[in-house]
Amino acid sequence: MNIRKLKFYHFRNYDKASFSFDENTIHVLQGKNAQGKTNIVEGIYFLSLLRSFRTNKLAHLVKHGEASFVIEADVESKGRIEELKVAVSDSKKQLFRFNDPVAKYSSFVGMVNAILFCPDDMTLFSDAPAARRKFIDMELIKLSKSYTATLSHYQKLLKERNQALKQPYVDRSLLDVYTRQMIQDQKIIISQRHRFLDELMEKVRTLYPFFSDGQERMEARYETFVSIEEDDLQQAMRACYEKTLERDLQYKNTQIGVHKDDFVFLLDGVPLVEAASQGQKRSVLLALKLGLAQIVYEKGGQYPILLLDDVFSELDESRRRKLIAMLPETMQIFITSAEPIPKSWFERPVKFYEIENGKI
Ligand code: ATP
Ligand code: MG
Repeated sequence: MNIRKLKFYHFRNYDKASFSFDENTIHVLQGKNAQGKTNIVEGIYFLSLLRSFRTNKLAHLVKHGEASFVIEADVESKGRIEELKVAVSDSKKQLFRFNDPVAKYSSFVGMVNAILFCPDDMTLFSDAPAARRKFIDMELIKLSKSYTATLSHYQKLLKERNQALKQPYVDRSLLDVYTRQMIQDQKIIISQRHRFLDELMEKVRTLYPFFSDGQERMEARYETFVSIEEDDLQQAMRACYEKTLERDLQYKNTQIGVHKDDFVFLLDGVPLVEAASQGQKRSVLLALKLGLAQIVYEKGGQYPILLLDDVFSELDESRRRKLIAMLPETMQIFITSAEPIPKSWFERPVKFYEIENGKI
């Protein structure tokens, strides 16, 4: 997948800007601090997920003093060009494909498939479990419609079960109906999360040594409320819910379920959060992101767009060059850097952009 043209109107510090990008090329966005490099990456990310990775407030994305912003792009996917447009004003998003309105966000999200690595990702290992669930879920959602449907069905049931628990008189048979249905959904969610994590870690184990000089063993542990080795998973889940029922009633909230799952990443058996160095964490993250890109490629036949925001700032020269050398040739890549990067590091098509105060 490739972005061929990109236009911003009143987006962040850009007034009116137009970029053209090449297929399967590395685009290096260079310039001093606070000039608008990350804003370009953010614009591409916004097209992909209709949200930013830096703020939850749409108003922050509108150029100061303006009322709305527009992002337009020509996106090539499997040889076909899509003309996409998002217009945002008063916190409302209007979506267009070939100038025709698109009614549902869900039919727009995923038209641009982008994978981002940014310095803030480094907190993934120390964040609360919700961040790691989101990391895994976001990818599964992009890959599987049935996963998306099951997960949102489960979340709806969870909300209803919690409401039932908050009633002055708790109807236990109603609670049981919810529990049974939630168990059905969780069987699917657990098996998909488990399978996806295995698949991802297989990629990560091959990729990690490229970034790390060490020989550490890279693993991940999927933590859920039930032992997934059980022969009769459904029966095992039922037993867990029966055991926790009194606590559910006491706290008026569902205490167990896949909404509490966690994914713990380990080096030589020790959770990263406990002992890993910054360099090791960064290597694992890069391996995770590139591993995701490979899975997307294997399942969908094309690489996603890779957005690398400020990755170089904390890597030494040999690691920077290693990273460049291992980026798949049929992948379009955007790299922001406040330091100039020598052209001689690239053995493939590369384009340099000088960004200064919202202008190229
Ligand atoms: P660094 O090298 O420090 O990461 P950068 O080039 O990536 O810098 P960006 O984050 O892309 O910088 O852009 C930051 C600039 O954009 C700042 O000058 C900021 O004031 C400006 N900016 C951010 N949001 C808006 C907005 N809504 N309206 C106008 N300018 C904005
Ligand atoms: Mg930046």
